[in-house]
Amino acid sequence: MSAAIQTLGDLRRSAFRPRTVKQEIRDNLICKLRTNEPLFPGIIGYDESVIPQLVNAILSRHNFILLGLRGQAKSRILRGLVDLLDERIAVVPGCEIHDDPMAPLCAACRTRIAEEGDAMPIAWLPREARFVEKLATPDVTIADMVGDIDPIKAAQGGLNLSDELTMHYGLLPRANRGIFAVNELPDLAGKIQVGLFNILQEGDVQIKGYPIRLKLDVLLVFTANPEDYTARGKIITPLKDRIGSEIRTHYPATRHNAMAITRQEAWTDRTGALEVDIPEYVREVVEEVAFQARAERKIDKRSGVSQRLPISTLELVVSNAERRALANNEAIVVPRVTDVYAALPSITGKFELEYEGELRGAEQVARDLIRSAAGSVFSARFDGVDTRTVVEWFDLGGTLPLSDTSSADDVIGETRSVQGLRELAEHAGVKGGAPAPFVASAIDFVLEGLYAQKKISRSDDRGYQAAEPAAPRRSRREEPTAEDSIPFPTGSKKKYYN
Ligand SMILES: [Zn+2]
Repeated sequence: MSAAIQTLGDLRRSAFRPRTVKQEIRDNLICKLRTNEPLFPGIIGYDESVIPQLVNAILSRHNFILLGLRGQAKSRILRGLVDLLDERIAVVPGCEIHDDPMAPLCAACRTRIAEEGDAMPIAWLPREARFVEKLATPDVTIADMVGDIDPIKAAQGGLNLSDELTMHYGLLPRANRGIFAVNELPDLAGKIQVGLFNILQEGDVQIKGYPIRLKLDVLLVFTANPEDYTARGKIITPLKDRIGSEIRTHYPATRHNAMAITRQEAWTDRTGALEVDIPEYVREVVEEVAFQARAERKIDKRSGVSQRLPISTLELVVSNAERRALANNEAIVVPRVTDVYAALPSITGKFELEYEGELRGAEQVARDLIRSAAGSVFSARFDGVDTRTVVEWFDLGGTLPLSDTSSADDVIGETRSVQGLRELAEHAGVKGGAPAPFVASAIDFVLEGLYAQKKISRSDDRGYQAAEPAAPRRSRREEPTAEDSIPFPTGSKKKYYN
């Protein structure tokens, strides 16, 4: 329909009538609800919690705020609102604030329409251009947000008629007839919040002492960390009052949902390179690291642990496996649980430590989390499975000098003499005739599981060996132990853990 509409006259004769952006989004949402279309594609785990509240806020034509910790898809939800806008809208060509040709705000457009009348051409603005996003920081100014005027020109031209002509528009007027998203609202200085409130409430704002009238039409949406938002004095009360809905986001409630998000977001399908096949238990361990981190008292709860932690961790896990496959000329990349330790660089930067955590150090906290995650995933899968034969092999002095760079053939070769290990690996889900990288990964999972359960031990220089006795804890390393004196044939002189 819109393609045939080229002038203001065409537009007037069409079915288009001015309507506010909130009404437009509401109307389009109602259409989607009627036809059962998915509302926020790619947003997982919010169907019963966040999305119903969002729908209500939009139906109520509210400005709203999403309150949540980092990495809870807040920005993504706000960007998803774009899909609720009309595909395109008619605007006065060249107008910086996207004036509606049938209801222009700015003086320039009103003058132009008066001169050209129905013959004035119109332009079409796609919906992607109607979303303006700003990260709030303490140094954001009124000029950034609302705009600036040249005081000399303003004084020369008189105040009312030409004020807009001397105005350099900020982000908010440029979002007119669209969505204006402010991330981390509490970081905005108080006087900018006052400016935002005035625009919302009265449609005018003072700039450098000059009153500017801007009856803007925007849907204002915000995000904030809940603690900052509720802290006294962080948000001016009248602005808070004008935010119709506060909606709380959350981390995935189940590992299943969390894995689905990570599967969707992580870059693991490395087209053009080797085939990547990630065992389910590796995905589970990666996800469990985030769950454990969120529950860990050494980690600061107020800043949270983003869903970006498992996402970038899984990417590094795949890369470490890719590196190993390339070094060993293997045709398929199958990550192992030990690869998660190689992903420390994506873990340590993604949480803030409490004092107790500072004492232990970020790297050690992360290692503890991985080990505990591996233990939890292993225990769930091997509940009631007898692992004693394997543990006994180590107790009798067996050692396995393996590392995360050991080839699949080496892992299988080195562990061939460990009775019962292959059966346990099959219990992890590898079939009898599976390619070597899958078998090696499953063996690694079993060994890491037993290590996490402290039934065997592992050190960087010796690989896997018998568990260290719980007591006595006196500098055992200095003294020669029984294991040291038993030579164990391993058939390989490789370097151990690196
Ligand atoms: Zn205009």
